[in-house]
Amino acid sequence: MALLQISEPGMSTAPHQHRLAVGIDLGTTNSLIATVRNSIPEVLNDEEGRPLLPSVVRYLANGHAHIGYKAQAEQSNDPKNTIISVKRFMGRGLKDIAYAEHLPYDFHDEPGMVQLKTIAGIKSPVEISAQILATLRQQAEDSLGDDLVGAVITVPAYFDDAQRQATKDAAKLAGLNVLRLLNEPTAAAIAYGLDNASEGTYAVFDLGGGTFDISILKMSKGVFEVLSTGGDSALGGDDFDHRLFCWILQEAKLAPLSDEDTRLLMTKAREAKEILSSKTSTHIDAKLLSGESVHLQIQASTFVEMTQNLVLKTITPCRKALRDAGLSIEDIDGVVLVGGATRMPQVRKAVSELFQTTPLANIDPDKVVALGAAIQANLLAGNRAAGEDWLLLDVIPLSLGIETMGGLAEKVIPRNSTIPCARAQEFTTFKDGQTALAIHVVQGERELVSDCRSLARFELRGIPPMAAGAARIRITYQVDADGLLSVSARELRSGVETSITVKPSYGLADGEVARMLQDSFTSAEGDMKMRALKEEQVEAERILLATQSALSSDAGLLSEAEQSTIAGLMNQVSELTNQNDLDALHAAIKALADGTEEFAARRMDQSVRSALAGKKLDDIS
Ligand code: AMP
Repeated sequence: MALLQISEPGMSTAPHQHRLAVGIDLGTTNSLIATVRNSIPEVLNDEEGRPLLPSVVRYLANGHAHIGYKAQAEQSNDPKNTIISVKRFMGRGLKDIAYAEHLPYDFHDEPGMVQLKTIAGIKSPVEISAQILATLRQQAEDSLGDDLVGAVITVPAYFDDAQRQATKDAAKLAGLNVLRLLNEPTAAAIAYGLDNASEGTYAVFDLGGGTFDISILKMSKGVFEVLSTGGDSALGGDDFDHRLFCWILQEAKLAPLSDEDTRLLMTKAREAKEILSSKTSTHIDAKLLSGESVHLQIQASTFVEMTQNLVLKTITPCRKALRDAGLSIEDIDGVVLVGGATRMPQVRKAVSELFQTTPLANIDPDKVVALGAAIQANLLAGNRAAGEDWLLLDVIPLSLGIETMGGLAEKVIPRNSTIPCARAQEFTTFKDGQTALAIHVVQGERELVSDCRSLARFELRGIPPMAAGAARIRITYQVDADGLLSVSARELRSGVETSITVKPSYGLADGEVARMLQDSFTSAEGDMKMRALKEEQVEAERILLATQSALSSDAGLLSEAEQSTIAGLMNQVSELTNQNDLDALHAAIKALADGTEEFAARRMDQSVRSALAGKKLDDIS
């Protein structure tokens, strides 16, 4: 069964273009999502107003997962099923993972990418990352109130092809269109508008919770090039916490601690560290489970002294990155700070001294990467402001289209569109109860499919049976910066979706991809039922309000017996509104609609009569 196009009266048949685009910083410890609204990039907070989503996923026995803060809070009770720092496993085999034997996970060594055995089954790092991305996507759709056209997702500059491909796959699995993967340091440079300068060489100094990255970027003719990268994958703000923790043990003369007390004091150390970035001293007070208590005061200068060699550890990789790029300090035009740990004054001082310039630090270092990604996403989605210059990368030589009813080719992305780009069009089902759609991707300028080149065929299955024309199927075409096309189809009412899967370079088996897609279909059915019930409840509320308002103005048109029949029908609807019986609620709504038909007719008569009262026939003809 081919596609039936949804036509909107009076609208052009040109492809519908949805332009809501986001930037995502998919971090090792925390992730963020940002967008550009009214020309201003901003991070989208969750419903509790928090900008960060901890990159933590906990799997449960019932197959569900907790993601973010909830998972993080449960981490110590269920370490085996609570996956943290999954970014370190992306596109990696077991042998590539340092300290694998010290991690609490049950690894399953697959050829290609490592898998993790959890209580909810075997999960790949791609699936786990997809859970994080899907949460961010939901967060964005909730706060923006619409579907997203695409996303720019950031990756470390040193990520290789397999790690990048894994990140792209995770995004696809989360239902996101990847407009482009962007290097994290480049995103930070974009956030500072360094791409507006015609030329320049910049260092991006990124000290996060657990990793340190330094990148040297060169901007020329509108393109950022990564000249060199370096860093230390085992150095970050956590090491500063640990130093302070050891100092507390020593000063308070504490004996070896239980796990709980260690965690408590580590948290206290972290809090004190963060305070000392803006105060000259602070107190550390804690009551331990062991019964001992801690009351200490620490000067910022003491903290700076005890962490001096950690700060020094960042300098050597900077010098090396400069050497690798064939540059000296004088060649650097500016330094950008990224990562929460760059808030420490001693770090800023060391960076200033090394590069002999005051680093750019006025954008929140936790948000700068996501903000830069959002700016890039906004441009790629075609939302540039008038006069904004933007790089023409490449164009599509032949239109990309889709087969519709009657063997016609409908163009989705017209030729000469600049890439990367993404366009979406909506289609619907043709027959009552139709549960599958065949999607045929074609290339060419001719009207008939038989005259175009066939690129791919795939099917969207698992559409819940509905009346013809009720399904809303959004087909999204996306061409990435490398000119590669991916096509995805999503039934918007149920969330069922599928896509043509690019064969990943790390060798994810076809069966594996199919299983992942199948999983998302299985949960879609439940979501669909819930949605239907919610929609019916809204309808119930609507009809109750309408009837109530009609009664309050025109009850006089009804006899007492009729009034009490309608009241009974209304009671029936309102009783069922908060129950979960969709069919019964639907029947009650119908009964109320039928039972008030006569009342509606009398009201209509009356309003026509009163409108005509006192008018001559000539006035109204
Ligand atoms: P990120 O991975 O970029 O989110 O950075 C997290 C690290 O930044 C953690 O070690 C935090 O303790 C640290 N951090 C956040 N705020 C501050 C602050 N005000 N002073 C020092 N370190 C901070």
